[in-house]
Amino acid sequence: MQDTKVIAVGIAPALLIGHDSAPLTLPIDAPRDDLNELIEDLHGDAVAILPAGRIEPALRRLHVLQSSLDGRCRIAFCQTDLSPLAASALVRLAASVGPSAPSAALLADAVPALENELLVAAVLPGVLRLKRPKPSFGARLRSLLPGARYLVSPEPEPVVASLRGAGGVPTLLDDAGDEVAVVAAGRVRGIAAPGELLAEVFGGAQVDEVDAPPGLAGRWRVTQAIEAVAYPTNAAAMTRRVLGLQAAPCPWCGEPHAALPCALCGHDRNRALTRQEIAV
Ligand SMILES: [Zn+2]
Repeated sequence: MQDTKVIAVGIAPALLIGHDSAPLTLPIDAPRDDLNELIEDLHGDAVAILPAGRIEPALRRLHVLQSSLDGRCRIAFCQTDLSPLAASALVRLAASVGPSAPSAALLADAVPALENELLVAAVLPGVLRLKRPKPSFGARLRSLLPGARYLVSPEPEPVVASLRGAGGVPTLLDDAGDEVAVVAAGRVRGIAAPGELLAEVFGGAQVDEVDAPPGLAGRWRVTQAIEAVAYPTNAAAMTRRVLGLQAAPCPWCGEPHAALPCALCGHDRNRALTRQEIAV
């Protein structure tokens, strides 16, 4: 079994409980020495995870890396549309799966399932301009009132809840136990103890506060935001869940993969079959 490396392009990996493997990193403005170090660390196929919000500069960086590698190893690309802190958790989770992945293509195919392992929420001073989740008209209006504070979560159920409501703090998890932990970053005026608030929101999970990645508040369309990401702490169980894909060898590159086209070589079995049928 090969040890598939994960390259976080323009995403700084978060430190997460239970996830000791670190992804390789390629900052968008990496100095040349960093690039050379990365090339030395790459020995087999890899999966590059790129932020959808900065896809152009991230792709340019990756192309520089690829031409320096000179075909020595193949890189499957995938982009993530997750918010900045969630993306930093995603690359760390992907690095946990890497050693067990049968191929880089299959690890790339598992990235959407890894995104679904995360529960993302934010505490915001207003939701007037928020698009995802989409607040009600009333919530938009009320968020203009001074002192308004909201808890929002885009998925799996869209949540827009006032933190100043009569019902107390809204909860997203009932009982986290030690199966789930939370990483949080950012600040919002008037929220004095974000860690305590988030522990309540996430069912008593351990909350680690970290430095805010760039662009955190802007992503939520406000000037101040606290973003929180809950993740599974059992890396082995998570790996089994996300790698439970129906895999078959790619007819073109031979690597096991699940989604079409193949993330490593771009071959699409169905497209090739359709073309043959047309030729007949
Ligand atoms: Zn292939």
